[in-house]
Amino acid sequence: MDEAGFALERKRMVEEQIARRGIREPRLLAVMESLPRHLFVGEENLPWAYADGPLPIGHGQTISQPYIVALMTDMLHLAGTERVLEVGTGSGYQAAALGRMALEVHTVEIVPSLAERAGKLLVELGLDNVHVHTSDGSLGWPDAAPYDGILVAATAPRVPRPLLEQLQDGGRLALPVGSVSGYQALETWVRRGLEFDHEAGLPVAFVPLRGKHGWK
Ligand code: SAH
Repeated sequence: MDEAGFALERKRMVEEQIARRGIREPRLLAVMESLPRHLFVGEENLPWAYADGPLPIGHGQTISQPYIVALMTDMLHLAGTERVLEVGTGSGYQAAALGRMALEVHTVEIVPSLAERAGKLLVELGLDNVHVHTSDGSLGWPDAAPYDGILVAATAPRVPRPLLEQLQDGGRLALPVGSVSGYQALETWVRRGLEFDHEAGLPVAFVPLRGKHGWK
């Protein structure tokens, strides 16, 4: 398929998978329509690059479903001035969406080869406000804290305390909580001084968060 074909698939993806399910933020829809998802999936998955589901990216990991990428980005309420942390870089696709929606993004990946591949692609796409780090992201990334938004792309047993601590006052954290074999739901946490409001939403299916505050 050529670039025009991919652009057409992207337009359909945004209309049928994202806008139709209730995401209306024009800036976010434009970003989802602009991002070349086909460059983030392997050659063997090109025919399904814009399909309505997750895809394997190697090392037993997946690139999330386009709708979930949009939904979790939407949960952070980004206006464009924010500094954001992502845990679980994977392919770099979610980080790219955050990079186009916020001022600065730090994304942490525990598998070095995934971090390296994502970092290269993000540079090629000119996303120089996205910084990829190889580390245990269940500990956050203290060097650039506090963050206005934090997004976790792997499911945790419970919300990791370091992530709450690295949230700015008024900042928002979006993450799946629950086990891989059992029930997982997306949660939003909002910092109010020393307190946190939280609510649980959609049931989801993410790979496990590893590391100190992940699954053993
Ligand atoms: N956001 C990704 C999807 C990531 S899948 C994308 O857009 O493609 C989840 C990722 O989290 C995997 O790459 C996995 O290696 C990574 N991961 C799991 N535990 C982690 C941890 N403790 N710190 C950082 N990354 C972790």
